[in-house]
Amino acid sequence: MISDKIQQLKPSATMAINRKSKEMQAEGLPVINLSVGEPDFDTPEPIKEYAIESIKEGFTKYTVEKGIPELRKEICRKLKEDNGLSYDVEQIVVSNGAKHSLFNLFLAIIEPGDEVIIPAPYWVSYPAMVSIAGGVPVFCRWDGNFKIDMEHLKSLVNDKTKALVLNSPSNPTGIVYEKRELEELADILTSKGILCISDEIYEKIIYENMKHVSIASVSPEMKRLTVVVNGVSKSFSMTGWRIGYIAAEPEIAGAVSKIQGQTTSAPCSISQKAAYYAMKHGDSLSVDMIAEFCKRRDFLVKNLSEEFSYPLPMGAFYLFFSYKDMDSVALAGRLLEEKFLAAVPGKDFGADMYVRISYAINMANLEETVKRLNEFTGQGRRVK
Ligand code: PMP
Repeated sequence: MISDKIQQLKPSATMAINRKSKEMQAEGLPVINLSVGEPDFDTPEPIKEYAIESIKEGFTKYTVEKGIPELRKEICRKLKEDNGLSYDVEQIVVSNGAKHSLFNLFLAIIEPGDEVIIPAPYWVSYPAMVSIAGGVPVFCRWDGNFKIDMEHLKSLVNDKTKALVLNSPSNPTGIVYEKRELEELADILTSKGILCISDEIYEKIIYENMKHVSIASVSPEMKRLTVVVNGVSKSFSMTGWRIGYIAAEPEIAGAVSKIQGQTTSAPCSISQKAAYYAMKHGDSLSVDMIAEFCKRRDFLVKNLSEEFSYPLPMGAFYLFFSYKDMDSVALAGRLLEEKFLAAVPGKDFGADMYVRISYAINMANLEETVKRLNEFTGQGRRVK
């Protein structure tokens, strides 16, 4: 009864671990859930209040399918000011979360059999979405810095290559691409006319002196080939509101809008108002949260046993680590059973020697996590 395409679809590994850890917590076991990809902060109060006002004012009906013009104008302003990118409001389409934006986009651009290059380690949902849309995910290796191995990328490109998915700052590794690396990538993509789906959802969660650069800003040619994907979930701790967006060439924005009009009509009216408020008041609403993530990252890397290896996260809020060549399912399984730590195996991120933990958890839980991880190595390095 169920289509082949969906039967072959793997359930989300993150969701599975999340479920298992909740079950164990319900049994009274002291599980620390490190699997979820969302900030532990509440949505800032003024955003919530603005949304409540919108409900009271009766802003409770369908909106235009691309999203309310005031929000799309704010998105254009943000893209100009933060990323140096000029878009017309008609080039912006707001959807029910960046995940939905990505899915609409894959449906809009993929012909059956088209290949989409996904650099590993990757966010688990990209391959699944490409497959549902009838495309073929093709995985690219990483280099010594967990970034795209450019030589491997060149060898993967062929007549069927339609797009590449770029995610900086990255889930699961936290690595951030620098401008010169994006220029190198842009050279390859523009020479072959390959689209770049640039998932910039963690743009604001970035540490030290790193500056987020959108690949679309590298050259006018690259901008035409790029679809910027972003949203409010991570930057403003608004995961449940479900607002994401794309900025793209008019033809792509039009196609995505058409799909949306026939499937969900429009994103939630109230959430659009809340996102409008968040974007209008911008960074001032989230600086404290980002400073806190940086503090937690510093605590983690300072106190974690040297037996764990990982790329130093420069953005997002994940640590992607390996331990003594253990495969990821075995490592995550032992961490859960022996130390009650719920981590996601890297297998589904295309990196089977790693597991991912999120440090978007409170400091007390983070201290306990480090203690248990260090005990796991048998060292029990003292938490400073
Ligand atoms: N891209 C990446 C890399 C993500 O980690 C996530 C959320 N886990 C999303 C997109 C989707 O975010 P949203 O809540 O806006 O759907």
